[in-house]
Amino acid sequence: MANVELKGVVKRFRAAVSSGRMASSVQAVGRLDLVVPDGSLTVLVGPSGCGKTTTLRLIAGLESPDEGEVWIGDRLVHRLPPHERNVALVFQGFALYPHLTVEQNLSFGLKWRRRREVRSAGIWKWLPPYRVAGHHGIERSEIKDRVQQTARKLGIEELLNRMPGQLSGGERQRVALGRAMVRRPAVFLLDEPLSNLDAPLRLEMRREIKELHYRERTTMVYVTHDQSEAMALGDRLAVMDCGQIQQIGEPQEIYDRPANRFVAGFLGSPPINFLDGEIGFSPSGIQFQCSDLGPRLAIPLDAVSLPGDVRSGHRVVLGIRPEDLRIGGLDASEGEASQPILRGRVTVVQPLGDLSLVSVEVLPDLTQGDVASERAIAKWTCKMGPRAKVEPGDVCGLRFNLHKVHVFDWGSGENLAMVATASAV
Ligand code: ATP
Repeated sequence: MANVELKGVVKRFRAAVSSGRMASSVQAVGRLDLVVPDGSLTVLVGPSGCGKTTTLRLIAGLESPDEGEVWIGDRLVHRLPPHERNVALVFQGFALYPHLTVEQNLSFGLKWRRRREVRSAGIWKWLPPYRVAGHHGIERSEIKDRVQQTARKLGIEELLNRMPGQLSGGERQRVALGRAMVRRPAVFLLDEPLSNLDAPLRLEMRREIKELHYRERTTMVYVTHDQSEAMALGDRLAVMDCGQIQQIGEPQEIYDRPANRFVAGFLGSPPINFLDGEIGFSPSGIQFQCSDLGPRLAIPLDAVSLPGDVRSGHRVVLGIRPEDLRIGGLDASEGEASQPILRGRVTVVQPLGDLSLVSVEVLPDLTQGDVASERAIAKWTCKMGPRAKVEPGDVCGLRFNLHKVHVFDWGSGENLAMVATASAV
């Protein structure tokens, strides 16, 4: 096992333009600093094209950085070929050899290694590796033992004599994992390994990979664009966008305290609700005011710590997660503990069994008006319990815990509460 560290890594690709004559440069990864602690399962997550696979390939040795360093354990590896890095890569396409049995697929890498080790011992050069016994590489008996052990761990012992074409998608994925495990690498690199599987199998394999990680505690770097897979699997997440890491940390910590608007919007399903507005001051305190709302309807922000230099008129974006939003009556006396903060109009109700997703249009004024003609200022989603007693067309009060509100700078997207914390340290 080993930790992995990328220091100031930059990777550019030359992209052919206009029938290959001119070439421009695409920066896939820019000044990337990443530490993957020994024994952790770190997930690189982000939208398509943000540089996840390139980062993984840089660790594997399939790409070399234009700038920066890649370390595995105490070895500087970015000039070493892949087979000298002691890493194993699992791809989404399984990449099993179709003409070899499962057993042969599992043992292939070790046999290749034995051949290389034996050949590099020099004096045996003229002998085929199967004639070589003794101390010039991994023993054949050990290869057999490792294949058996790995097959047992993954529950594929019964499949060892089958061809890949005779396996289901899940079984093939287990063999692909096994082929990596059998080598006992210092680091596992997994690139969207579950994306070819159907939804139930994906969930099952996700659980199996996590269980495997608990048992083996091998350092794993896992790439996915699926934020729920990332949250469920990783003990650390690195959220990427445009070749940069936007935030790194424990999944729940990132979800609860997103560093910026991008991270807040990327993690969570359905996504966080946003509303544009500005900071205002009143005798009662600091407020969020939406330009489409009257000042009367300003939302108090006293529960949110904001940087000391925030001035009146500072443009911000309010964020509130669907599970922190509640739909109720317009009146505080309707059994609701708190006053409604905004008024909404229900547009769609999606019952999902264990919960209901309710889409609402946020209306510009808390006072009753001609609802039908009112222009919505935002479309939000609320997570309600099952059998939600609301219907499309209902006009409702929207309530939320003011401690759960996020405030992002409109220009930079930074979470102002985190800016405030950082400047206070
Ligand atoms: P996805 O989730 O779609 O696989 P990703 O986050 O893994 O995306 P990368 O595959 O790392 O993203 O690509 C990052 C950027 O680099 C993209 O803009 C991509 O088009 C570009 N890129 C990647 N490989 C090459 C290449 N060999 N030549 C030119 N551009 C490349």
